[in-house]
Amino acid sequence: MPERLTGRTALVSGAGNGLGRAIARALDAEGARVVLVGRRREPLLDTLAALGSARVATADVSDPASVDALRHELRDEQVSILVNNAGVAGPVKQLTEIEPHEWDEVFAVNVRGVYLMCRAFVPGMVARASGDVINVASVTGKRPLPGRTPYAASKTAVHGLTVTLGSEVGTAGVRVNSLSPGPVAGPRMERNFRLEAERSGITVEEAERAFVSRSSLGRMVTETEVGDAVVAMLGMGGLHCADIDLSAGMVAR
Ligand code: ADP
Repeated sequence: MPERLTGRTALVSGAGNGLGRAIARALDAEGARVVLVGRRREPLLDTLAALGSARVATADVSDPASVDALRHELRDEQVSILVNNAGVAGPVKQLTEIEPHEWDEVFAVNVRGVYLMCRAFVPGMVARASGDVINVASVTGKRPLPGRTPYAASKTAVHGLTVTLGSEVGTAGVRVNSLSPGPVAGPRMERNFRLEAERSGITVEEAERAFVSRSSLGRMVTETEVGDAVVAMLGMGGLHCADIDLSAGMVAR
């Protein structure tokens, strides 16, 4: 199959690990030039080593001065795909136990970070009359996950930002969409299964089986599938102000 993104530059935030790295890899495989953004340089360099055409740039997406500096550093890049993937999971506590600073820390990255990155890179897309923004949200923004209110509320805010920004820049040729992964198979979920097994006196395999039984596919999605979904969304011409649910049919607890 011919590469579908040759000639386009894609910025992926949080590209030093996990989903961000998988998304960068998928965009690179389709011929995009990928700009890897994250707070720390070393993990970005690890991602870079696996890609064909890419550069790294460090920034804290929650910090206006840092995002301004990033925009300046990348002034010669024509970013036409912006994937806002950087995010934090926040505390696992009942809402009544959460401290205000914990709440604010989640919103600073997951919501303000998306706003600041769009504010920095969407004007260039509008000026060139073409571009795509894909915000990585979460099914947790749509279905309940007890103990995760700041994360859930931040991801619901991302849906609101997506459709509203989309309505502002769509006629300028910029499409804005979000992708809502469910739990993604990998080290974080494996750690959760180990903790659950210890807590409940069951085996790790039993903990995993109980968890994936909530999925109508009987499994979690993979990082590769999330990367492939981003590429697929870029190829869906009329997709705008939309959210793609990529949860393998996970239902609420
Ligand atoms: P996953 O690995 O599943 O993508 P993580 O929550 O571990 O999920 O990672 C999200 C990414 O976002 C990480 O690379 C993390 O370093 C990055 N990140 C978190 N906060 C910021 C921030 N303020 N600025 C830039 N990147 C961030």
